[in-house]
Amino acid sequence: MSAAADMMRSVLDERDRATVTKILGERARFDAPLAPFTSWKIGGPADALVQVETTDELAQLMRLIFKRHLPWFVLGSGSNLLVGDGGIRGLVVRLAGEFTALDFEDDPSHVVVRAGAASSLALLTAQAASRGASGIGSLAGIPGSVGGALRMNAGTDQEIGEFVRDVWVQTPAKPDPHAVTPQYFYRHTSLTRDAIVARVTLAFPRADSTAVREEMQARLVRRKRTQPLQFPNAGSCFRNPAGDKAGRLIEAAGAKGWREGGAEVSDLHANFIVNREDASAADVATLLARVRRAVVEQFGVELELEVHFIGVFV
Ligand SMILES: Cc1cc2nc3c(=O)[nH]c(=O)nc-3n(C[C@H](O)[C@H](O)[C@H](O)COP(=O)(O)OP(=O)(O)OC[C@H]3O[C@@H](n4cnc5c(N)ncnc54)[C@H](O)[C@@H]3O)c2cc1C
Repeated sequence: MSAAADMMRSVLDERDRATVTKILGERARFDAPLAPFTSWKIGGPADALVQVETTDELAQLMRLIFKRHLPWFVLGSGSNLLVGDGGIRGLVVRLAGEFTALDFEDDPSHVVVRAGAASSLALLTAQAASRGASGIGSLAGIPGSVGGALRMNAGTDQEIGEFVRDVWVQTPAKPDPHAVTPQYFYRHTSLTRDAIVARVTLAFPRADSTAVREEMQARLVRRKRTQPLQFPNAGSCFRNPAGDKAGRLIEAAGAKGWREGGAEVSDLHANFIVNREDASAADVATLLARVRRAVVEQFGVELELEVHFIGVFV
């Protein structure tokens, strides 16, 4: 068997498939395409794509993963991912059901929300803004789940990490929910790779709800004007280097409009790559490498990826 064919072969045997089906029934799908689950609409199949709806199901799955040493990956809303055309070996876990809960608590000084990791950040920002959550505008318009936002420390002028009160995770070695205290950095955290965020409590200082809503609305309007939201994309591809903007450097390198296959550097925002026409992961990866090389050659700045590459690139 060739090396490429070997990388495409499922790592799950019949026994693993049967055990996963026993835990999740029809919510376990095998050889399932991942493109529909990413904002770029790109990505090959997962050996198993499993939808987990309770902490108990997740604990059972974590125990199986631990016992059988199975590779796995947790997918949020797929808005910061480039999934390889060869797909992902092992289990791809999607949280749903009780993990989508959003509960607001009474607190005189803060808007406090307990959010399941699969809850929508857009829904959370809308509901928190109407309660007068100061600072929520910094998270408005960021697509994705609360778990993905926490892993990425997503944000703009302020980041989600600044508002965290507690974080609960489940891991293969410690499958029941337990609290951790990660550190937060620019677009990443100290959360260990084996941790699935199960839920998070966020607290925002209380402010006037009309003012908060108006500020948030202005930010959403600005995003619509400055981001190519009509084409599938994954937001900013590169992190901003210290003291500069990746988009400014890419534009100055003359890369706007560059194309590889169906992937194109956006004319509107140079740090966005859009899927214009059936782009493959290879198209996007080639374009990203071209852009990065041009910026190094012209400005001596090595851009770092913000989007996560995952799976088999063929
Ligand atoms: C139009 C657009 C605009 C954007 N604007 C911004 C912006 O202004 N600021 C910003 O920071 N980002 C921005 N993004 C990027 C993206 O939306 C964020 O990074 C988002 O937080 C990712 O969440 P997700 O659920 O889609 O995660 P995914 O893309 O699914 O996953 C991202 C990473 O998080 C991990 N992950 C997901 N869920 C969990 C979990 N429950 N536990 C542990 N790890 C998990 C995944 O394994 C992966 O490593 C933008 C993206 C788009 C498409």
